[in-house]
Amino acid sequence: MDYKIATKCVQAGYTPKNGEPRILPIVQSTTYKYDSSEEMGDLFDLKASGYFYTRLQNPTNDAVAAKIAALEGGVAAMLTSSGQAANFYALFNLCSAGDHIVASSAIYGGTFNLIGVTMKKMGIEATFVNPRASAEELEAAFQPNTRAVFAETISNPSLVVLDIEKFARAAHKHGVPLVVDNTFPTPVNCRPFEFGADIVTHSTTKYMDGHASAVGGAIVDSGNFDWMAHADKFPGLTTPDESYHGVNYAKDFGKGAFITKATAQIMRDLGSIQSPQNAFLLNLGLETLALRMKQHCANAEKISAWLAKDPRVTWVSYPALPDSPDHEVAKKYMPNGTCGVISFGVKGGREAATRFMDSLKLAAIVTHVADARTCVLHPASTTHRQMNDEQLVACGISADLIRLSVGIEDADDIIADLDQALSQA
Ligand SMILES: *Cc1c(COP(=O)(O)O)cnc(C)c1O
Repeated sequence: MDYKIATKCVQAGYTPKNGEPRILPIVQSTTYKYDSSEEMGDLFDLKASGYFYTRLQNPTNDAVAAKIAALEGGVAAMLTSSGQAANFYALFNLCSAGDHIVASSAIYGGTFNLIGVTMKKMGIEATFVNPRASAEELEAAFQPNTRAVFAETISNPSLVVLDIEKFARAAHKHGVPLVVDNTFPTPVNCRPFEFGADIVTHSTTKYMDGHASAVGGAIVDSGNFDWMAHADKFPGLTTPDESYHGVNYAKDFGKGAFITKATAQIMRDLGSIQSPQNAFLLNLGLETLALRMKQHCANAEKISAWLAKDPRVTWVSYPALPDSPDHEVAKKYMPNGTCGVISFGVKGGREAATRFMDSLKLAAIVTHVADARTCVLHPASTTHRQMNDEQLVACGISADLIRLSVGIEDADDIIADLDQALSQA
């Protein structure tokens, strides 16, 4: 039975058998006991599936990963300790030294550093492209050694909505997968696999957890990319893994190849597993995700319209606003709503923005975004402060940009708080 998304949020991933706990149990155990060495040996050889060490797999984590796979409509998923780990693992599962990535320039600051600086040190180069680039401009970014295309479905914090089909077409024309970070819309509002994306990543720290209680990440595979059809590009997936007794992920695991390799090889060696405790908290958050996203979007739609009319505000960016350059793209890919994040500029520039921020009473100044409580951030002086002005502009961030993460409180209370703080600015 293919349930609707709100039902999957509550029910998917864990189905207790007769007499088992109704609520997903936290399996707080690093290890698992077997009657014979041979049985455990089969697990190590990936001949049998089962648990032997929580760095690789844990039943609590697996249930939550299965729920996220169901929400995205993918074949398999894995949890990671953070969104950073999810994006790194997803890309490193495809690339090695000498390879190249085409990435949207409008992405989260941490991911921009990961791809532009840290992965470069590992010998993986990247070309950044404007997410609103034409098909021709996109085409020009590819190289013979390109192995992946990366973008965010709604960029943090610049809120550009990705034309997923355009990026998927470009990637597939060059025989490489499209990897998208779907953190901001969540699968409740956008399911990128339906538009040709191959791999989805998440910082579950944001809306999925939803309560700012647990850092985490997830990678989901659509199972749609044909690795063997592009075997020469992805030897890590299509030739024997000597570090794993010659396992051939694509041949031996079919649609499970990507997540099996990410688990058996990358998680084994790099070890950024999510703790089962955090997976339990994430699951509680997921149960109310559909409900919360509705309220985040309704509030943000009301508040963005209010801000857009206010003379103390110089500009407002929110994809659902009728004059947003992404309005049509958002309607196509996210017809039920986008996310609860709005960015805007306060009249009077950087200093007025600071006075505004300091005058807020309900909205809190935090680096976090996308949880139940309304919060604000000034990226140019915090999350993106490592970037120079040119890089900031390339990411779609101006020095006066305030990122407002609208929570699920009553919209009128949030507006009253913004109103009094704007008067102080
Ligand atoms: C926060 C965020 C990340 C990084 O996730 P962490 O859980 O903080 O490591 C990656 N991508 C996007 C879009 C984010 O908002």
